Amino acid sequence: MNPLRKIDPKFPGPESEDRWAFFCPGCNCSHWFWTGENQWTWNGSIDKPTVRPSILTKWNTRLFDPEGINGIDVICHSFITDGKIQFLPDCTHKLAGQTVDLEDWNKYDLQQISD
Ligand SMILES: [Zn+2]
Repeated sequence: MNPLRKIDPKFPGPESEDRWAFFCPGCNCSHWFWTGENQWTWNGSIDKPTVRPSILTKWNTRLFDPEGINGIDVICHSFITDGKIQFLPDCTHKLAGQTVDLEDWNKYDLQQISD
């Protein structure tokens, strides 16, 4: 299992030695977390990660459809614990309130995943 993918240090974004992406089955795209002072803590496991505190992502579907006129605001809020994602009730997607296993990156066509 390889549910975390390390983000290339050259890729723009927050400065951290440890920036990781995981695939979110609720949003069907990747989300990031990164470590550092006042950032997330991570147990160092790629296979069974635990990350604290929760990961809150707010995005709009126009991200993947720039020409789209009617974008939809999405809220995704989860805890990653021991290789599982617990989606909190304030998620606006279909997995709100559910806990599911993180999935292996290799399952997905990475060309389709924007990060
Ligand atoms: Zn999500």
